[in-house]
Amino acid sequence: MNRIDKATALELLKTSYLLELGLMSDAVRKELHPEGTVTFVVDRNINYTNVCINKCTFCAFYREADSPDAYVLSREALFGKIDETIALGGTQILLQGGLHPDLDMEYYVELLQSIKDRYAINVHGFSPPEITYLAEKHSLTIRETLMTLKLAGLDSIPGGGAEVLSDRVREVLSPKKIKSSQWLKVMEEAHRKGMRTTATMMFGSIEGPEDIIEHLDAIRNLQDKTGGFTAFIPWSFQPGNTELLSKKKTIVPATAVDYLRILSLSRMYLDNFNNIQASWVTQGLKLAQVALRFGANDFGSTMIEENVVKAAGVSYRVSKEDIIQAIQHAGFKAAQRNTYYGIVRQF
Ligand code: SF4
Repeated sequence: MNRIDKATALELLKTSYLLELGLMSDAVRKELHPEGTVTFVVDRNINYTNVCINKCTFCAFYREADSPDAYVLSREALFGKIDETIALGGTQILLQGGLHPDLDMEYYVELLQSIKDRYAINVHGFSPPEITYLAEKHSLTIRETLMTLKLAGLDSIPGGGAEVLSDRVREVLSPKKIKSSQWLKVMEEAHRKGMRTTATMMFGSIEGPEDIIEHLDAIRNLQDKTGGFTAFIPWSFQPGNTELLSKKKTIVPATAVDYLRILSLSRMYLDNFNNIQASWVTQGLKLAQVALRFGANDFGSTMIEENVVKAAGVSYRVSKEDIIQAIQHAGFKAAQRNTYYGIVRQF
């Protein structure tokens, strides 16, 4: 299949018949993954703090430092969570938090070292806003910050904080957050340091189709340069308990059809990405099954724990067995993978 340009992508997104998009993206998925396997990773989201100075309008998770339910996770609680993850066959922790004004590089280095001293587990952590905040706090370059974190034990980086890579959209959603170019810069530097990362997109708030194409184009261009992204994960804005919903009551959350259209288009546009994840955490297990015929080849994580989407009032709890069954009943082979998409176990 020839590379799709921006104008064609926009046309496809706006006017294509849904099932046509599904057939085209399913064909791309089959070409890339002819063996018919759908993978998932066993891991846990660990949010080391919910205190955040950014106060993004779409976020229901953050708290002010003096809020009664503000927290910084103790080491004891952290290790307890990792023990449970390993007992459940987990290979990775997703370690993310807010931008806490009192946590400095020493905290992050000790946190990583304390994990690596005890556990052989992949630390997938600190998305670009956290890394940029830390760099600015210590007047370091992004490269220096990444090197310090990598030496302390950071293995790979999640694609959080991308939302939509359009500064027009970010100005409304998260005016204090890093700009699109800064998000891309962290990812580029990480790839150049040999660290793999994911790319994400949160749609269904105030963006238009053009913004979505801009986002896909920006990450496709970076992937052409570095090849460092392992996967793309689109999900939809969950409006519950957010400032954005109270300010813009007219927002209509993305529907299942919107989700499938964007997922399909992503599979076709991102011709240099091997993996596209279905988001059962935001769409539920049943739509995630359907997503496997609309371009997705991975079920993401078992999410032994998840706090961010839950704070917006959306909580789908599923077990590893539920995921395996959902994959198999959708007509695919299920396999547990590691962070780098290596197969750990077939089912
Ligand atoms: S989305 Fe992240 S950066 Fe924004 S307020 Fe929530 S925790 Fe902070």
